[in-house]
Amino acid sequence: MSKVMSSESWQADKRHWMHPWTHFDSFKDEGSLMLTRAKGARLWDEQGTSYFDAVGGLWCTNIGLGREEMAETIAEQVREMAYANPFVDMSNVPAAQLAKKLAELAPGDVNRVFYSCGGSTAIDTAFRLVHFYQNCRGKPAKKHILARKGGYHGSTYAAMSITGKSGDKIPEFDYIQDTIHHLSCPNPYRAPAGMDEQQFCDFLVDEFKQKVAELGADKIGAFFAEPILGSGGVIVPPEGYNCRIWELCQENDILFVADEVVTAFGRVGHWFASEDLFGVQPDIITCAKGLTSGYLPLGATLFSDRIYDVIATGDADRYFASGYTYSGHPVACAAALKNIEIIERENLLSRVVEVGAYFEQRLQTLRDLPLVGDVRGKRFMMCVENVADRNTKQLLPDELNIGKWISDRAEQNGLIVRPIVHLNVMSPPLTMSRKDVDFVVDKLGAAIEHTYHDLQKEGLI
Ligand code: PMP
Repeated sequence: MSKVMSSESWQADKRHWMHPWTHFDSFKDEGSLMLTRAKGARLWDEQGTSYFDAVGGLWCTNIGLGREEMAETIAEQVREMAYANPFVDMSNVPAAQLAKKLAELAPGDVNRVFYSCGGSTAIDTAFRLVHFYQNCRGKPAKKHILARKGGYHGSTYAAMSITGKSGDKIPEFDYIQDTIHHLSCPNPYRAPAGMDEQQFCDFLVDEFKQKVAELGADKIGAFFAEPILGSGGVIVPPEGYNCRIWELCQENDILFVADEVVTAFGRVGHWFASEDLFGVQPDIITCAKGLTSGYLPLGATLFSDRIYDVIATGDADRYFASGYTYSGHPVACAAALKNIEIIERENLLSRVVEVGAYFEQRLQTLRDLPLVGDVRGKRFMMCVENVADRNTKQLLPDELNIGKWISDRAEQNGLIVRPIVHLNVMSPPLTMSRKDVDFVVDKLGAAIEHTYHDLQKEGLI
């Protein structure tokens, strides 16, 4: 997603900003796409070219950018009180009101909120909370963590250790390894040959049981999972999987941590996907992104009264020795409250259910194109997987970077879709209309066809 520009800012960026996740080599040649303006799902670059952002920033611009009301709310809070110390016994009104609102929206007895600065720190907090809880209740051996291959949980040391995306676990970094275990990715498209979805689900459940038996339930503190895996490939697990694993967690006294950094706040048509889509009541939920729709950075770790009662009772000297200068930042919390109000007022959740069905149905038509192996996802969280051979599902060589090839072609036609190796991922603002859906699907289809011809012309397929 880049094009050579020559402005002073573009040069400054290239010279000084080391971007997250950037390949040093291609960045050296290509630099970045320098964006300057946004309205709804539309972005403009420095040269005035406009794009429809089907990625919604990074799965986060849920209400769409450029809303006057958000600007007003943020400005007002800055004038009133731009910062407040959140430690110990200091508080602020937006953070308290937001905590109450989140408790109302969250499932079950998930009524407690710990604020952080984004998704990774929300996961980090969940990880530390698991330790804290198990120690407080006198079960210090219960520290092992179960997660899945393909899961993405963020970029801090703990979050990246829990992450199970092999491509992201580069050897130049170290990870916690001895206490974190990755089970199979619940991707029905890549189920072992000959297994139907139900058999695959049984297989995953058996694998979970075996792992518990192998490590011992008395050693396992928590299971971390995205209800729908996001950057691991928009993977909706087989029918019944989330709920059956949750039941096993309950039976074995293992905390269920739902990483809803992507799936919460409307992305799949619900405030939280765990309960509404999958019938799961997690013990801990992490969220960020759609919490403020990207207007300001904010993360939250929500957890149950049951956990709170354990950690807050007993030792009078005990305190949760963790937290950030910007925990419960009043401006970010005011933005989150307004963002939630807008989602409610504009009925964006029902809109996602309705337009999402159309998006799914229209995207499925791309299955007829060459290269397209799978089209999957749920509502406003969708993905196309590109393959060399649709029958064998064999992938193209990684070096071809097929997702990037396609997204570059799409970008030339005014559409931004996110490339992740073999995939093109979409998570548009919840305001996307049917007309926008047609635009996205038509442009993506054209980009795939164009890329196919490129590959043929270059003798690469
Ligand atoms: N969890 C999930 C499921 C995510 O998708 C992400 C970010 N893409 C994170 C955690 C980390 O969030 P952040 O980048 O805000 O730290």
